[in-house]
Amino acid sequence: MRTLPLRSPTLPPATHTNCYLLGHSRLLVVDPGCVDLDEQQRLLAAIDGLHPERAAVVLTHRHRDHIAFARGLAERGLEVYAHRECARLIANEVNVTATLEDGEVLDGFEVIHTPGHARGHICLRQQQTGALLCGDLMASVGTVVINPPDGDMGDYLESLRRIRSLSAPVIFPAHGPPIEDVVSHIDATIAHRLSRELQILAAVAREGLSSFDVVERVYTDVPRHLWPLAEGSVRAHLAKLIDEGRVSFDGRRYRAIEVG
Ligand SMILES: [Zn+2]
Repeated sequence: MRTLPLRSPTLPPATHTNCYLLGHSRLLVVDPGCVDLDEQQRLLAAIDGLHPERAAVVLTHRHRDHIAFARGLAERGLEVYAHRECARLIANEVNVTATLEDGEVLDGFEVIHTPGHARGHICLRQQQTGALLCGDLMASVGTVVINPPDGDMGDYLESLRRIRSLSAPVIFPAHGPPIEDVVSHIDATIAHRLSRELQILAAVAREGLSSFDVVERVYTDVPRHLWPLAEGSVRAHLAKLIDEGRVSFDGRRYRAIEVG
């Protein structure tokens, strides 16, 4: 496996998306998200340098910093694989030639459907080693954005728990270096989200609040320019809490539902 970090239209502080090159006789090119011509040339040279008999693109999910060069590669004759749901969402941009389902095996890599960050998001688990390519389920640089309706906090936490149960020795994220302390990283991610959720619940227990009001009260430790992103996360948490019957929404304000 080769990792090729390519400069991509991603969210700071991340500046690159890792493009992973997997396999031998057939090369799998995972997440070619580069836009700049020189980065695209660099990827093409890396593919050529491996002299694959065939090559195919695999997309972990539909975000631009993961798919930007997929069409360019398809035009060069590569097949494109993505989860069925992802394929549907990007149909106008990229022609996905074959859709993937949870449990399917692609050249020794098991497809694991892990929605939450994006619909139709997949991870790839190398059967031989258990190593996991996690797309944007986790990141070692920057934070993972959960922005409804594409993002779903309940699904996201469930996907993290599922990945935790796989006991991967190492996780290769799309942004940043490999994650080796896998279980503690996942546990810290889940704990961080749940502690935010408790803060949000406490805020809407005191008074009815809009999602922006919640950001102002809860995200005081986060720079103001990131508040629009934080508001997405807040809405994702509130949607989960509504699903669980713990919060109500009257179209303007969220309120905690008294229990007991
Ligand atoms: Zn993403």
